[in-house]
Amino acid sequence: MSEFKKVAGLTGMKDALPPETARWERLEALVRDWLAAYGYQNLRTPVLEHTRLFARGIGEVTDIVEKEMYSFIDPLNDERLTMRPEFTAGIVRSAIEHNFLYDRPRRVYAMGPVFRHERPQRGRYRQFHQIDVEALGFPGPDVDAELIVMLARLWRLLGLKDIRLELNSLGQAAERAAHRAALVAHLEKHLDVLDEEARRRMHSNPLRVLDTKNPAMQDMANAAPRLFDFLGAESLAHYRGLCDRLDDAGIAYTLNPRLVRGLDYYNLTVFEWVTDRLGAQGTVCGGGRYDGLIELLGGKPAPAVGFAIGMERLLDLWQQDAPDQDPAECQVYLVHQGEAAQRRAARLAESLRDAGLRALVHAGSTGFKSQFRRADASGAVAAVVLGEDELAAGMASVKWLRTGAAGDGQQESVAFDRLAAHLQQRI
Ligand code: ATP
Ligand code: MG
Repeated sequence: MSEFKKVAGLTGMKDALPPETARWERLEALVRDWLAAYGYQNLRTPVLEHTRLFARGIGEVTDIVEKEMYSFIDPLNDERLTMRPEFTAGIVRSAIEHNFLYDRPRRVYAMGPVFRHERPQRGRYRQFHQIDVEALGFPGPDVDAELIVMLARLWRLLGLKDIRLELNSLGQAAERAAHRAALVAHLEKHLDVLDEEARRRMHSNPLRVLDTKNPAMQDMANAAPRLFDFLGAESLAHYRGLCDRLDDAGIAYTLNPRLVRGLDYYNLTVFEWVTDRLGAQGTVCGGGRYDGLIELLGGKPAPAVGFAIGMERLLDLWQQDAPDQDPAECQVYLVHQGEAAQRRAARLAESLRDAGLRALVHAGSTGFKSQFRRADASGAVAAVVLGEDELAAGMASVKWLRTGAAGDGQQESVAFDRLAAHLQQRI
């Protein structure tokens, strides 16, 4: 037994190991192609930002800023820093800092880890990953529709079923102010059913009170005045413009007047894609318009709209809808006996890789029997055998490992210089 104690990973922060990582990589590759098809370009920002960026950009009275951020003071220079809890604020900061919108609007995306100190459960982690897409400088509603049509295509590409779209409009500031007065009056009438958090928020951020998951508050929330009923002609026209384009694309949606989203900065379009197949954490993607944020963060005023997909939830759903076998470590596994054969195998493997094959050379010196067990475990379709006889003859023995697949369990002898072409043709 080791005298050293092991150190465990952090709660709510998951490792991903093969073969699960193969799915991550497939998703990432597919997502990049999907985004490129719509002209979206990658924008990368640091994980760490000034805490005040998120406090201002996300809003002080939000779950994220109130209790979920990983913040600390950099002991080297006393700066308050935060590990990004979402991408939008950092992307907007970056766009402003680099004057990225000076000559035209931009379509960008980012993909990577974000951090929130939440109670871990299925679909809710402390380090999780988002695909974040932002259309900066577009007033919509055409681009709002483009983003949603794009998402419908991603679900199709992944073969996802049972994922539905909910829409709402949060209107403009004046409409929210009128609604807010009515809402606060409603909340004051129902003080007795409000939980502690709701009472705290009812004056600072009453709209968020409606976002509650507390069952005891559902009747009160359902009976509350609806922001949607306070929308003026322009906001309604924007909403109709979006709906018309979704109709054009044959995308079904429902209006959910209680949809407000977790973050403060949204206006007009908000949407979520939800499913019943992920337990309590059923929101796979959330997004909307945030026309005031660029100005709020010190940039020249410009409208914007975007969304974020939770990758763990997306992978969970994808696994359910498109389960498949573990990917193989390689296509060809080379086994050998003796130093000369090992060195020849290493060179042969390079020639296989030149031909585009995935090849593994057995490492270490063990008997053929245990090498064949490794070959099997690797998932390879063929083993290439190099013993003394093979070396002397300049011929490799190829043993096809899978019945019903290439080679169908046969064994054959192939000259070294024809091996790559032969395997490439048969695999
Ligand atoms: P929720 O209501 O589930 O807390 P949210 O409104 O906080 O979600 P957003 O800030 O909109 O979520 O983030 C976008 C997406 O990121 C969510 O729709 C979800 O798929 C995913 N997500 C959010 N929080 C987590 C988490 N802690 N772990 C895993 N995925 C998450
Ligand atoms: Mg949340």
